[in-house]
Amino acid sequence: MTFEHVSLPQRVLFGTGKAAENLALEVSRLGASRVMLIASSSLMPVGERITAGIGVALSYDDVAPHVPIDKAVKARLAAAEHDVDLLVCVGGGSTTGLAKAIALTTGLPIVAIPTTYAGSEATNVWGLTEQSRKTTGVDDRVLPVSVIYDASLTVALPVALSVASGLNALAHCVDSMWAPRTDPINQTLAIEGIRALAVGLPAVKANPQDNEGREHALYGAYLSAVAFASAGSGMHHKICHVLGGTYNLPHAITHATVLPYVLAFNAPSAPDAEARIAAAFGSSSAVDGLNRLRASLDAPRALKDYGFDEISIPEAGRLILAAIPASNPRAVTTEALTGLLRAAWAGSVPFFEATGSRQ
Ligand code: NAD
Repeated sequence: MTFEHVSLPQRVLFGTGKAAENLALEVSRLGASRVMLIASSSLMPVGERITAGIGVALSYDDVAPHVPIDKAVKARLAAAEHDVDLLVCVGGGSTTGLAKAIALTTGLPIVAIPTTYAGSEATNVWGLTEQSRKTTGVDDRVLPVSVIYDASLTVALPVALSVASGLNALAHCVDSMWAPRTDPINQTLAIEGIRALAVGLPAVKANPQDNEGREHALYGAYLSAVAFASAGSGMHHKICHVLGGTYNLPHAITHATVLPYVLAFNAPSAPDAEARIAAAFGSSSAVDGLNRLRASLDAPRALKDYGFDEISIPEAGRLILAAIPASNPRAVTTEALTGLLRAAWAGSVPFFEATGSRQ
């Protein structure tokens, strides 16, 4: 066994109903006295409730998807004007993304309190959008120093969003099995993430108010993000990055829709990963396990339902092909990629002939 693995330093406090208590502990531990609370206007009441005991120097709700650069600049100025010494973000990936944009230039620490399963809180990846182009980068300054998970904050996340967001997390896990820096440690985290999400998401679907299902889903989402941050972006993430960035498709839904096609394509060429993913689903086949889970969740099925035009398939294929990592277990041709995108566009049953491994 030969590998090089990096673990990112981060404190995780997990406890349902404990967000306010755990935040107070973190603020005191970090010696912070001027907190900037960041939450979208719809989640601001939740943020205010959690921060009621600690005092806040600035409450900031100008959050938008994919962190437009002008909003990042405004938020950085506001943080400086209020002499902020800690960023506390309460919300999904868009909110965490704004906190990261501030931390990127100021070095301010972040305590993240996630309310979706996107997983941005556990990565050192930032993203900024300028003139419809999203740029991403890696910088340890944007890694939240602490993450506070409280399942009770996620019960209001609508079921359809929960399913899409949870399958986004599942995609982090599956793609980690063949991403460029895949190793035995991040694979183990990814497999446990799949197991937890496969337990949690059906429970959330059956009863969105059930804290136990929500806890499994959050725990799985955290593992998925740690695995993804360590292993990097594989074929699946490269596809979704192009689809989201170039055609403005919704983030979580795009991941949820594309995943079964990438798994069906790669699985025959990655037998070890296939067997471990299958076992995590409690199924004899990884593809069947995922398809069964998706059916039980009423998962999003076809890219054509979410704004992707059939006419864009050749262009998307060209853009994606250039980005496919050399680590992918199966060689990817223009023809194969076009077939995959067409199937994902139509929502047809994912099936690809096995062709053996790349090696
Ligand atoms: P999001 O943050 O935009 O949230 C989606 C919607 O859910 C919003 O309308 C939000 O108000 C609502 N919402 C969130 N939590 C809620 C709750 N508990 N109850 C009710 N409504 C709630 O979407 P997302 O999928 O969480 O994040 C997507 C963004 O995160 C994308 O920009 C993506 O690129 C980024 N992301 C970054 C990383 C990274 O490592 N940097 C990782 C994953 C995702």
